[in-house]
Parts: sequence; structure tokens; C-alpha cells
Amino acid sequence: MSLVDIDRPSTWKFYRKGMCDGCWGGCCTMPVEVRLSDLIRLGVVSEDEALGSIKKIAKRLMKEGIVSSYRQGTELFMLTQKYGRDCYFLDSKTRLCTVYEKRPDVCREFPSIGPRPGWCPATRQK
Ligand code: SF4
Repeated sequence: MSLVDIDRPSTWKFYRKGMCDGCWGGCCTMPVEVRLSDLIRLGVVSEDEALGSIKKIAKRLMKEGIVSSYRQGTELFMLTQKYGRDCYFLDSKTRLCTVYEKRPDVCREFPSIGPRPGWCPATRQK
């Protein structure tokens, strides 16, 4: 059996429907960059706050541990990775997204977009 190495997209599997069932959620261990609109949908930034300074928002979210960085040039926020790996919103036990209905655009589009479009680091849960 071939082993999937998340850091080597050449080992990934071609994505097919149903592949997410029982998967360990490797895609949710990769760095996730989100926009302000994603943070509003997630409910961690209010519409009112979004009208103010984006740098101030970034500072607050970093203080609260929700994002780890913010890039002014692209206006992208990096979600914090728990244990240096899991997405801030991933349930480490069930390996399911805790905000699935409100998840960021980039998560909705994966694996159509990503390091190897159309392929994913699918691995069964142990
Ligand atoms: S927001 Fe949800 S779907 Fe997106 S990476 Fe985090 S846990 Fe996964």
C-alpha cells in the first residue's frame, strides 16, 4: 500500500466523492489562509468591527489565538494551528470541522485548489 505524505503532494490520492468519510482530515492540518469575509461568516469578527481597522482586528485575533499572523499586502489571515498542526477549528478527537457550515472559502474549494489541484492527502482514521 502506498503511503500518503502530506508534505509531498506527489503521494496524494486522486479525489473522489466519499473519500472524506472516515478520513483523518489531513487537509485540515495544512496552513489555512482566510479573508475578512470568512472571519465574519465564522462569527469571530462582527460586521461593525469589519468597518474599522483591519490591523486592529488582526491584533485582537492574534491575542485571542484564533489567527497566528496577518499579511497586510494580501489582507490574508493565517488561522492558528493547534499543536503546530491541526486547524484552530478542527476537533482533534473526531477529526471533524467544528464550523463546517460556516467554514472558510478555501476549505470549500479544496481540493480543486491547493498544492495539487484535484488530489488530496486522504488517510483513514486509525
Ligand atoms: S475551518 Fe474546518 S474545514 Fe477548514 S481547515 Fe479548519 S477544520 Fe478544516
